[in-house]
Amino acid sequence: MYINLSGLTILVTGASRGIGKAIATKLAEAGATIAIHYNKNAREAENLAHVLGNESKSYQADLSKKGEAGKLFDRVVLEMGSVDILINNAGIAKPAKINLAEEEWLKVWEEVIQVNLSSTAALCKKAIEFFLKKRMAGRIINITSKAAFMGDQAAYMSYAASKAGVVSLTKSIASAYGKDGIKAFSIAPGFVKTDMAKAFIDQYGEQHTNGDLSLERMTEPKDLAPLVTFIASGMADHSTGATFDINAGSYMH
Ligand code: NAP
Repeated sequence: MYINLSGLTILVTGASRGIGKAIATKLAEAGATIAIHYNKNAREAENLAHVLGNESKSYQADLSKKGEAGKLFDRVVLEMGSVDILINNAGIAKPAKINLAEEEWLKVWEEVIQVNLSSTAALCKKAIEFFLKKRMAGRIINITSKAAFMGDQAAYMSYAASKAGVVSLTKSIASAYGKDGIKAFSIAPGFVKTDMAKAFIDQYGEQHTNGDLSLERMTEPKDLAPLVTFIASGMADHSTGATFDINAGSYMH
């Protein structure tokens, strides 16, 4: 089946590397113009914009800071004219041991919630308002995690909680704005071979990431991009509110 996304502008957060980069690449191959969001890896993001073409551009924003998400959305609309699809992919997994002082533990908790949940929510709010104002049948695709359903290691409670929040945020959007034409989906990966997973492997070993796979190898970013592209095309619109698992058969529910 041929997917043609030309004429669509898609904002992909955290597209400088890992999963976001693979998603942005596949969407651009289907013809979309990509707003490539990054935080620290400016050169990677600028190179990607050049490689992807279709008038794609890179945009910096530190999503651990309140107010940055909204400004990012406004800048993209101002310069690119529209956001037809929003893909919230940027995320962090930062450990905090339970024996840390409360203030220190909460500092990590708040940063993870800010990047993974609050900035995602702020971008969703912006997108919903924009879609309503323009009477657009927009789509939002939020990258959550298997951890939203299974929980995570003790040091990563904030990560699991932030991702569970993203799932219910997505369901609420799908339910509240479906009649306005707005659709929202969650993607829940298991371990995916990126810098983020490397940090887990270094800490807990490969048995932790690969032990429960049904398939023969760990998921790679390229294994997520086709499904995201399919959802972006509108062909899965009647799955609005759903969570799509991509975890090499490591967790089925
Ligand atoms: P990654 O390789 O660590 O890349 C993270 C991306 O997020 C980068 O583009 C990074 O931008 C951006 N980012 C990090 N901190 C940011 C901040 N403060 N403000 C703005 N952007 C920031 O991660 P990944 O593995 O591709 O993960 C992508 C998404 O999938 C995340 O939401 C993650 O939770 C989720 N996920 C990953 C796995 C896994 O095993 N990898 C499993 C389940 C879910 P810069 O590089 O430019 O700083």
